[in-house]
Amino acid sequence: MIKFLDLQKINSQYEHELKKACERVIDSGWYINGENLAQFESAFANYCGANYCIGTGNGLDALRLVLMAWKEMGKLKDGDEVLVPSNTFIASVIAISETGLVPVFVEPSEDSFNMSPGLIENAITSKTKVIMPVHLYGRICNMPVICEIAKRNDLLVLEDSAQAHGAMIQGKKAGNWGDAAAFSYYPGKNLGALGDAGAVTTNDASLATLIRAMGNYGSVKKYQHKYIGINSRLDEMQAAMLSVKLKHLNHEIQQRQEIAKQYIAGITNPKIKLPENSSEESVWHLFVIRTDRRDALQQYLLENNVQTLIHYPVAPHQQEAYKKYNAKCLPIVEKMQKQILSLPIYPGMSQLNVGKIISLINNY
Ligand SMILES: *Cc1c(COP(=O)(O)O)cnc(C)c1O
Repeated sequence: MIKFLDLQKINSQYEHELKKACERVIDSGWYINGENLAQFESAFANYCGANYCIGTGNGLDALRLVLMAWKEMGKLKDGDEVLVPSNTFIASVIAISETGLVPVFVEPSEDSFNMSPGLIENAITSKTKVIMPVHLYGRICNMPVICEIAKRNDLLVLEDSAQAHGAMIQGKKAGNWGDAAAFSYYPGKNLGALGDAGAVTTNDASLATLIRAMGNYGSVKKYQHKYIGINSRLDEMQAAMLSVKLKHLNHEIQQRQEIAKQYIAGITNPKIKLPENSSEESVWHLFVIRTDRRDALQQYLLENNVQTLIHYPVAPHQQEAYKKYNAKCLPIVEKMQKQILSLPIYPGMSQLNVGKIISLINNY
């Protein structure tokens, strides 16, 4: 069986380094808000080119904390609208609704899978306060244009960078374009911890200070609580694991880009629509193809021992949790979700297996 993602294989490459780092944390006797976190935050901010990085418990909290902090600063209030792609993972939408804000779904461009700038402009109303571009599948959105739209309309930009560590456009990385960005280090993400973890990056010093307090029970000084915060911290163990893995991220991205190139050069079946070859812009978190008889193709690949997944089979506005949006008609995502299929792509995946998948698809 060719697995969709082999985390055991990815992490076992660094087994020695990870175990050493783990031992150091155990021996230190200090497990929350210590030097491992400070070291990782500084390394990751540096990696993105941003001034500040604040570790959080997970990616959802990173998104929520930015929105909560903007409310605390008076930049947002209940009922303000946030533009979010209709084809994102549900976390982007939960972060908005759970903060008392209103998600407004913007359809993606069919070529890039990312929010379409033209449709962003059409969706702006007097209540719009934030654009939340999601760099889906590892490909960074058209940030130069999105930031220009935001500036012209006096809107904040929160990048959901959960799938795009290291992705760049015009030489500038995800996490350094908007007013703030949220990252997830969920184990399956391109930079994955060995548990839950996330972070915010920003160049705004006062926002960074506020988020750090808000994620630590609203406390700036121990037992003094200035805000009604939450408990969402990146712990020392995960920070130590992430520092090890960050050193290998660029090499892993290169491996993903090579696999993507191999797929793009090899798949010639005319029934399959390949993703655009945007290799300088994409870190290929996922390799997503489109085809009309998707379920049949997925079944055929499974019968031939290839695991695939669908990202995502049901759009947020159609979820049971969001009954109030169920009647909305968003034709692009509704069509795409019946056609998309994510093929295996991960660092360490053998050329032989990529080749097997290519032949299977071409013979289909
Ligand atoms: C994974 C993901 C998140 C949430 O991250 P968690 O760490 O699982 O909370 C948010 N947005 C997108 C686009 C994601 O893929």
